[in-house]
Amino acid sequence: MAAGPLALTARRVVTAALDLLYPPQCVHCTRIGSLLCERCTAQLGPGPQRAVAGLDAVRTRTVFEGPAMSAIYALKYQGVRRMAEPLGRLLAEAWPGDGWTADFFCAVPLHARRQAERGYNQSALLANQVASLIGQPYVEGAVARVRHTETQTHLDAQARRENVAGAFAADPLRVDNLSIVLVDDVLTTGATLAACAEALRASGARRVYGLVLASAVYKAADAGGHASPAEE
Ligand SMILES: [Zn+2]
Repeated sequence: MAAGPLALTARRVVTAALDLLYPPQCVHCTRIGSLLCERCTAQLGPGPQRAVAGLDAVRTRTVFEGPAMSAIYALKYQGVRRMAEPLGRLLAEAWPGDGWTADFFCAVPLHARRQAERGYNQSALLANQVASLIGQPYVEGAVARVRHTETQTHLDAQARRENVAGAFAADPLRVDNLSIVLVDDVLTTGATLAACAEALRASGARRVYGLVLASAVYKAADAGGHASPAEE
């Protein structure tokens, strides 16, 4: 899968040329110079401690608000794939170092239909970035989404759990007896991460950790106010 050194160099040259023609702009404050400027990055506070059923531990880097919300929105819905680079660096800051033993990183998968619509899985881009920064392998396809689920934005916590139950399957040949870090972009109720971890454990995974960029405060749809972000 990895591109050769020549292809990488060529891509960097093209990227640098495009940056000269169209300088990157901060997706939150529109300042010219980078996709997420230093000032907006400095606004990102630490993520809260979260516990999710079936995971040995979960770390979140920040809260889903302000610049983090703009950046994730750009990565997920506006096709700004390069956003995965600064966001991957941020996510790596949440890595607990020797606290976790990991054999590899993988991403919460999208259903094939949604991935085809979007053209990529934003969490896989993040997982790839973080894995290379941490110096661990990234494994594609260790866990797959076997059932399409409805978007969860307007579901309450119980309905979200039911919506994703049994939606994932893991490959025992790739996960048996291994410690795995699951990467995702947004943590809302944790229903998706829990269902994914359950599939990994059912296929023999020894440990499952969650590394998530942003934690959202979950608001039930009937509580009024803003809709919760979609856990896909
Ligand atoms: Zn900014």
